[in-house]
Amino acid sequence: MHRPILGFRYPFRAHALTHHRIFSWDATYQLQRSEDLPNVTFAWWNFPVLLGLNAGLVTSVALAIAGGWNAYFWVIGAVALGVLAAYYAAYEYLHFCMHVRTGRWFERTAWFRFIDDHHRMHHRNPTRNLNVVLPLADLLFRTKAPGLAPVWRLAARERRRTAV
Ligand SMILES: [Zn+2]
Ligand SMILES: [Zn+2]
Repeated sequence: MHRPILGFRYPFRAHALTHHRIFSWDATYQLQRSEDLPNVTFAWWNFPVLLGLNAGLVTSVALAIAGGWNAYFWVIGAVALGVLAAYYAAYEYLHFCMHVRTGRWFERTAWFRFIDDHHRMHHRNPTRNLNVVLPLADLLFRTKAPGLAPVWRLAARERRRTAV
């Protein structure tokens, strides 16, 4: 998503060149103009393409675990593809919610604020905080950025300051 791979430029163009240009880490982190709405998510066809790209890996792993094309293979394969599909759907939906706020109940939870701040830091420094849903790989590969005071915390501090 941050560089073209083997001549395939769509994710690079849609994410690094377009998404990062429109949405930064300041006030522009949240959608400012409705015409930018299509640039929050990827095009719909990314979903089947990503599942298709991973199908070979899923098939190999399921075959290895089940030991052949038996009933276990189909169950393991279906569960693995289901998890992949759920993960991608969670990524697109939660990432959308980060940039387009509508006052959803979970926007106030500590969990959402945490992943939202994590992603906002990615918009400040695109080589850091590459995970969106589950920042596990950022911990493993040491790409997690040190914390920046979250927007909500800055706003709370400002409210306290002006209240005095
Ligand atoms: Zn983003
Ligand atoms: Zn990025």
